Amino acid sequence: MSDGIIDKTAIELGTLLADGRVSSVEIMRAHIDRTRTVDDAVGAFISFDEQDALNQATASDERRRSGGALGPLDGIPVAIKDVLAVRGQPLGCASKMLKGFVSPYDAHVVERLRQQGAIVWGRLNMDEFAMGSSTENSAMRATSNPWDLERVPGGSSGGSAASVAALETPLALGSDTGGSVRQPASFCGVVGMKPTYGRISRYGLVAFASSLDQVGPVARSVDDVALLLGAVAGHDGRDSTSVEQVVPDYVHGDPPADRKWKLGVPREYFGAGIDPEVKAAVDRAIEFYSRTGCEVSEVSLPNTEYAVATYYIIATAEASSNLARYDGVRYGHRAAKAEDGVDLYFQSRAEGFGAEVKRRIILGTYVLSSGYYDAYYLRAQKVRTLIRRDFLNAFEKVDALLTPTSPVPAFRRGERTSDPLEMYLCDIYTIGANLAGIPGLSIPCGFTEGGLPIGMQILGRPFGEQEILSLGKQFEIGHEFTERRPDL
Ligand code: GLN
Repeated sequence: MSDGIIDKTAIELGTLLADGRVSSVEIMRAHIDRTRTVDDAVGAFISFDEQDALNQATASDERRRSGGALGPLDGIPVAIKDVLAVRGQPLGCASKMLKGFVSPYDAHVVERLRQQGAIVWGRLNMDEFAMGSSTENSAMRATSNPWDLERVPGGSSGGSAASVAALETPLALGSDTGGSVRQPASFCGVVGMKPTYGRISRYGLVAFASSLDQVGPVARSVDDVALLLGAVAGHDGRDSTSVEQVVPDYVHGDPPADRKWKLGVPREYFGAGIDPEVKAAVDRAIEFYSRTGCEVSEVSLPNTEYAVATYYIIATAEASSNLARYDGVRYGHRAAKAEDGVDLYFQSRAEGFGAEVKRRIILGTYVLSSGYYDAYYLRAQKVRTLIRRDFLNAFEKVDALLTPTSPVPAFRRGERTSDPLEMYLCDIYTIGANLAGIPGLSIPCGFTEGGLPIGMQILGRPFGEQEILSLGKQFEIGHEFTERRPDL
């Protein structure tokens, strides 16, 4: 049954568990076996603790036998990006800087998963400190795209997307500061969401750029993303930006089937640089929606051209401040030889951080420095407001926006590493949602002739998760893209 198990969605597994046709231990075993078989090639996991995962599964089975299952996630594995704190497990952000660090507490999202009986397992690979779009900035290992092992899985949550695509886990959590859940989801042919800023507590999520960071679910179906989102969303007093707003039942709470949807297609998202196969696939999705009764119109987000520059000023400024805590004194890597205290900081940071992280710290420090603050950081904040306004204006006319998730499908490993700017430009369609704080869903909408997945993005109003999930579901039901599996 093992093959059958790993191919199932979390919701299907939940039904099998409830009917007593499979145990959580069998589910966990099947995914561990699968991971042992394919992960040398895929490289999605940095590590996992087999005994701990099986213990959680055993506890779940016992609960269920005594009639006390904790909900639809009880006994279902959820793998975790190496940026989220899990008590007693290594927390490394795929950086040498945090090598050997073990988390003393659980992130809010992990607490929530435990309360609902989910099996919290594994440490998923990522770009160091979530900075990157290909997972090539990991100091731990390379991750491959399960659809073509020569290609990148996207990033920074490359391990989250690759593990789900490779059937190593039905569900994973990632984080998205500028596209890090959606872009790898699109590269790996799975579904991923960045919720509204404030929808999910960031407590226990290692900070990259605090005004942009959000935790996001990854799965192989829209319903599974809805399930995982509902499980981890909600207010938490330890993150003052988490919002006190009721968490709906995202799986069952669809708007009425006869709702007349209005969809917008932002013209700026189909300009120069878009791969023709990506454009064709998204065009077909747009046609699908108009054919099935949605009113589709073109809209404009005129400040889109400034989004990449704005993002890379704000994100690096916040990162330079957030990453100041890695000083080699309190935790993490400490240089063996140093002449004095200041030299200890220098050496530890020089040795501990990789090139991209250093580049961002330097850039961020520069844009915040006196004399440049007004010209860069302050101006970027103003443009950020204009970008948010563009989206809110569009949402006065339409319910959601349809765009490609990434201008290109998965590229070859090493292809973009020599030119950071080219890598930054990959984020052009995803960073707007972070700057504006709005939710975005990436779902598979086609394949290239070479067999690589293509993703489209549905952007929604603040706290419009239910609406974009519902639109995603409509598309998913009409297509078989989420049914295809890579050949591993
Ligand atoms: N690729 C973007 C960056 O490198 C986004 C990263 C992210 O969302 N964590 O900043």
